Amino acid sequence: MNRPLVIGNWKMNLDFVEAVHLTQQLSVLLKNQPSAHTDAVVAPPFVDLRSVASVLESERSSVALAAQHVSAHESGAHTGEVSLAMLTRLGVAWVLVGHSERRAHYAMSDDVVAATLRTVVRGAVNAVLCVGEDEAVRDASEHESYVAAQLASALAGLEEKSRALVTVAYEPIWAIGTGRSASAAQISEMTLAIRRELSALGFADTRVLYGGSVTSDNAATTLLDGGVDGFLVGGASLKADSFTAIIRVCDDCYAVSANRR
Ligand code: PEP
Repeated sequence: MNRPLVIGNWKMNLDFVEAVHLTQQLSVLLKNQPSAHTDAVVAPPFVDLRSVASVLESERSSVALAAQHVSAHESGAHTGEVSLAMLTRLGVAWVLVGHSERRAHYAMSDDVVAATLRTVVRGAVNAVLCVGEDEAVRDASEHESYVAAQLASALAGLEEKSRALVTVAYEPIWAIGTGRSASAAQISEMTLAIRRELSALGFADTRVLYGGSVTSDNAATTLLDGGVDGFLVGGASLKADSFTAIIRVCDDCYAVSANRR
């Protein structure tokens, strides 16, 4: 089992005052009961990044900072966009790339996902490549080939020195925000298929996360039986206790599996 990674995607929730409050609560909970084995990351909205970074720094928190999106371009006439340099200046160490909501609602094509991923890793920042099928693709039993194509499109040809910066998040769209998590068997099948494709592309060591209605109740089964290395968490990351509970599940599962080795 790889060292677990848990990323909280706050989406378009929490203004900067609320974000500061949540970050303080997270810092206190994780200070009282530090996570020994799990990397924790939060992805607030752009306008909260500066405030959240300040709290994490003043609390000397081990939680790292992510952005939910970035422009593929370096600078210039891109009204409404944010560049990677602006994010790194704020202490952002991770960026979500190609979340299904960006793909579906903001016309983020596979080509733009690939270009954005390159921008992120070129800046020595960790990229979380989000992939996953919608219900129609799954009903047609095309989920494996669909996700393999998403991976190949984003990762093929990426230079070797950048590969360690890539994490993949498998997020079936039908499970996101629906309360209907994929079953451990479905996740395990997809995780195996994703790892196969990643190996073929030269990414054998890449961490694979699952996202889609993860809670502390389904986290252990998903991690152990689904064979993932952690989670991308939406709804349950908006409360400090539910997010830290998921981190603790990962910590406990990792400790148990390390003892068995
Ligand atoms: C997500 O936003 O990527 C996500 C998985 O959301 P949720 O946990 O709410 O399904």
